[in-house]
Amino acid sequence: MRDLLPEEAEHMRLIEMEAREVARLYGYREVITPLIEHYELLAAKIGEENRKRMYVFEDLGGRRVALRPEFTASIARLVSTKMVAEPKPIRLFSVGSLYRYDEPQFGRYREFWQANYELIGSSRPEADAEILSISNDLLRKTGLKDYYFKIGHVGVLRGILSEEGVKEAEQNRIMQLLDKKMQDEALNILKKQASERCLETLRRLFKVSGREWSRVIKEMNASVEGYEEASSAVENLEAILNLVSDAKMDLNVRVEAGFARGLEYYTGMIFEVYVPGMDIALGGGGRYDRLIELFGGGPTPASGVALGIDRIMLAVKGRRPGWTPTWEGLRVLVLPVNEEVKGKAMELSSRLREKGVAVEVEVMGRKVSRALSDASRRRITHVVIIGPKELREGKVVLRDMKNKEQRTVTVDEVADMLEGLQSGSSRISL
Ligand code: AMP
Repeated sequence: MRDLLPEEAEHMRLIEMEAREVARLYGYREVITPLIEHYELLAAKIGEENRKRMYVFEDLGGRRVALRPEFTASIARLVSTKMVAEPKPIRLFSVGSLYRYDEPQFGRYREFWQANYELIGSSRPEADAEILSISNDLLRKTGLKDYYFKIGHVGVLRGILSEEGVKEAEQNRIMQLLDKKMQDEALNILKKQASERCLETLRRLFKVSGREWSRVIKEMNASVEGYEEASSAVENLEAILNLVSDAKMDLNVRVEAGFARGLEYYTGMIFEVYVPGMDIALGGGGRYDRLIELFGGGPTPASGVALGIDRIMLAVKGRRPGWTPTWEGLRVLVLPVNEEVKGKAMELSSRLREKGVAVEVEVMGRKVSRALSDASRRRITHVVIIGPKELREGKVVLRDMKNKEQRTVTVDEVADMLEGLQSGSSRISL
């Protein structure tokens, strides 16, 4: 787990702010769920790999609890208990830290942050397309351009395995292997329990992928012929991609028939987002139509996405080295030249803050010249120098740090000038 120093924390919060704005634009309302939940709830469908990596402990009440490794289980619990009567669709947004005992390396941490969007109550392709659109909008807002969506459909592989009578636990094991791209190992397990036709179909499917999605869909269709559930899964994927294309979302997609994800609750379209040169996903999501029912909420289809704030930050930094997350606009220092006017400096600082201006007051007792050189090092834009002589006439000195010009103005004028500059400046930039 890491300490995030001010610049990193600012970067993270900027991305979080964009994520919040996307939630607002799409009508997703924020919910805040606890960091700790019952182990069984979090472990139920997280998948073997992530289950092993959970931080699990017993609390003083003897309950077996864990730090959340993802948001979806908590959201499904919430919907199936406290929001059952809520009219559908329900659109929920969450943001916060998650915990997994991963091997720390570039972009892989034991504490990381996600922006999470869940669209609950619709089984239609529109819902899946909306989730893709949200992911696209957030990434575009951060300035990234070259990202692409790897897309598949769990229903294709699970459909084939179900028709072959492969039990769910076995299916989960196979999905875990496919998630790690261990296709030969997955086929080896199946050799004992599935038909030659099934193995042949899977071998064929594993080779089907590409960016021209209509060709890939055709090949998938041809490969799964005779497997009814798998065929309707391909149809569903095609409907989603058609909608993405009709809506002119301009998504860069790569469809992979053999793509699987480690989380066990997926039932439909699944996806991950990548940027070239980074082999870890910036985000991932998909459709999970049975999780809410599993938690006692009645049959409730749902689709969602989790975007990794830490990884988006790494991708943006890598592509935009000059990206400075400074809060643009004014940063004012109020500088009393001696002890006598310290109180006045604090009083004027408060008055400026009331007008929305960011003001730091000199607290180190520095002489004017040292305070000024320190101010330019810290990107202060304006300094208000308070001296007893000027103050007797109700005046102060306002210094513009950029062009190094200064003028003597009245206290009322300085407040008006800084307020005017403040309202004219944009507050933030990415
Ligand atoms: P998942 O819940 O595994 O689908 O993860 C969704 C997203 O969370 C990933 O695409 C990453 O952006 C982020 N993520 C998952 N695990 C980590 C980690 N150990 N460190 C940083 N980000 C992570």
